[in-house]
Amino acid sequence: MGEILTVTIPKQHCRSCGHLLDAASGLEGTPKPGSVTLCIRCGTIHLFTPKMRVRLPTDGEMLDLMLSKNWGQIMLAQKTVRAFQTLASLSRQA
Ligand SMILES: [Zn+2]
Repeated sequence: MGEILTVTIPKQHCRSCGHLLDAASGLEGTPKPGSVTLCIRCGTIHLFTPKMRVRLPTDGEMLDLMLSKNWGQIMLAQKTVRAFQTLASLSRQA
């Protein structure tokens, strides 16, 4: 697996949970238009538009992602985000 690079992106909100996003980590190097990114809070999959705004994938794009060689890595990243958030919420309750 390559190095994970984090870049600053225009401030915007997750399309699913509304979390403020201002940075993104690339699963395939530096994030660029069309790259997949995950919300750091809820793990929702987004794609970057040409202006580096996030948007939800269409059903067809999701299918393409699921069939791509990167799907395993995307799922692993999503599980990691969600596991981290579960741990964070448990530690807040303790
Ligand atoms: Zn979110």
